[in-house]
Amino acid sequence: MAGILYVVGTPIGNLEDMSVRAVRTLQEVDFIAAEDTRVTLKLLNHFSIKKPMISYHDHNIREKGEAIIAKLLAGENGAIVTDAGMPCISDPGEDLVRLCAQNDIITRVVPGPSAAISALALSGLNTSKFVFEGFLTTNKSGRYENLEALKTETRTLIFYEAPHKLRDTLNDLYKVFGDRKITLARELTKIHEEIERTTLSEAISEYQERIPKGEYVLILEGAEQEAGEVKFTIEQAIELVLTLSAKGTPLSMAAKDVARQTGYKKGDLYKGAIEQQ
Ligand code: SAM
Repeated sequence: MAGILYVVGTPIGNLEDMSVRAVRTLQEVDFIAAEDTRVTLKLLNHFSIKKPMISYHDHNIREKGEAIIAKLLAGENGAIVTDAGMPCISDPGEDLVRLCAQNDIITRVVPGPSAAISALALSGLNTSKFVFEGFLTTNKSGRYENLEALKTETRTLIFYEAPHKLRDTLNDLYKVFGDRKITLARELTKIHEEIERTTLSEAISEYQERIPKGEYVLILEGAEQEAGEVKFTIEQAIELVLTLSAKGTPLSMAAKDVARQTGYKKGDLYKGAIEQQ
C-alpha cells in the first residue's frame, strides 16, 4: 500500500508556532522533503528530530518529485516542508501534491502559519473577501499588465515582497491604484514585528528615508465600488439583508455585508430592513 504525503506548515519566524501535530508528524514520517535542508535541519534540531531529508526546491521539482513519488508508492510516509510557512503558497509543494493526486497517493495537511493570512488578520482592512497575488513579477510590462488588471478589483489585495524591491513596488502600486490604504506587515511573529496601517503616499514618503529591512507582506485596500457599477436597486439590497437576517445573520452584520457587495450605505440598508421587518 502506498504511503501518505503530509504537507506540513512550519513557523514564519517564531518557533513556538510549530504545532504539536507538526512535530509529531515530522517525528513519525520516513522522510522529509525540504526546500532548503540546512534551514530545516535547524528546525529539526530544535525539536530533536532526526530524519532523512530530500532537497526539494524550484530547480529540481521534476526529478525529485518523481523520486519522492517512487518512495511514497513503495509504502513510505513522507512530509514536505518549506523554509517558513505553508508549503505550496509561493513555495514548492503544489507540483508534488498534483503528482500525488495523479498517482492516487493520499495527501494530508498539517496546517501552520502563513504570512499572507497572518498579515491580513492584522491589516485592519476588509478581511471578508481577498485576493492573494503572491510576488509580483519583476518584468516591467508583465507587472503593469498584472496591476492594471487588478485596478477595479474590490476585494482586498495581498502581495509578498522582498525588502530590496519594496520601494519600487510601492511606487508601482501608487501609479496604478492611486492613494489607497495599505498595511505593511513586517517581520511577523519575530522580535521586530511591525504593522503599519497607512496610505501608499505616506508609505512612499516614509521609505524615501527609511531602508526596508526584513520580510514584508503588503495588504492593499480594494477598489471602491462605483455608483455606476451597482447592480442592485436599494429595494433588492434591503431584500438581501432581510434574507441573510432570516437565515440567522445578525441584522447589522447582514447590512454591513450587503453594503460591501452593493455599494449602498450600511445605515440606509439597516434602516430600510428595520422598517420592513
Ligand atoms: N509559504 C510561505 C507562507 O505560507 O507564508 C511564504 C513563502 S514566500 C517564499 C516568502 C515571503 O513571505 C516573504 O518574501 C514575505 O513576503 C512573506 N513572509 C514570510 N515570512 C514573513 C514574516 N515573518 N513576516 C512578514 N512576511 C513574511
